[in-house]
Amino acid sequence: PPIIKLKNVYKAYVNGQLSQPVLFDISLDIGAGEFVAIVGPSGNGKSTLLNLLTGIDRPSQGEVTVCGSSLHQLNEEQLSLWRGANVGIVFQFFQLLPSLNLLQNIILPMDFAAKKSRRQRVERARYLLDLVGLSDQAQQLPSQVSGGQQQRAAIARALANDPQLIVADEPTGNLDAETADAVFALFSRLNRQGKTLVMVTHNEGLAESASRRIAIHSGRIHYDRQDDQETP
Ligand code: ADP
Ligand code: ADP
Repeated sequence: PPIIKLKNVYKAYVNGQLSQPVLFDISLDIGAGEFVAIVGPSGNGKSTLLNLLTGIDRPSQGEVTVCGSSLHQLNEEQLSLWRGANVGIVFQFFQLLPSLNLLQNIILPMDFAAKKSRRQRVERARYLLDLVGLSDQAQQLPSQVSGGQQQRAAIARALANDPQLIVADEPTGNLDAETADAVFALFSRLNRQGKTLVMVTHNEGLAESASRRIAIHSGRIHYDRQDDQETP
């Protein structure tokens, strides 16, 4: 079965009397191990789509099933437990906690999951810092390292609970080209190691290295192209 299934999903943001429709009748399957780039112009619903996949937001209509759970059947508390166990999220502006060093930032999601001993959490955090090339920065605060290093730390944090799915919203949007390439290489490596990746990006080079590109225009799927097949 697909790791992500959207069935006839609509989303409108309601503010008082005003309803602003953002997504229209999106149906979509994403298989385990895929690397999907969501592309398209600004303000067309890409982030909204991503927020539905992570349960950060709920659809107005339709069903969203991710990592075996029908998200509409979960209450907020169940959703946050589900998210912690199944999804790693990477943001454009990193969103590391400024008062914690990089090591502590990576330990935090494991504290919430409460599945490992303190020692195991520290060990895994050190392993992940090494994986993203930040062993020497473990004790630094986010403000003391570069943007690219902050983003690599944020990716390590997303991996803390070993999620099947990694979701990223413009993860290189705030990085220079060279740093963006390094961050992207890291995502590609994670995908080769079996992680499912869904990423919103404006970076065409990055989108090209995904195995599937889904364009969202005006809240609808404009195209959905896989490397080995083309469906206009
Ligand atoms: P994209 O990611 O393609 O730039 P978004 O999904 O962020 O697009 O936004 C699509 C539309 O939905 C925009 O018009 C945006 O202003 C609106 N929107 C997004 N989030 C909210 C929200 N929480 N409340 C109201 N409107 C929103
Ligand atoms: P993006 O670069 O992803 O399009 P935006 O700057 O459009 O990001 O939106 C950033 C955040 O603000 C998102 O969480 C989005 O849901 C929210 N947002 C965007 N537009 C609106 C809006 N009109 N009203 C309320 N929240 C919004």
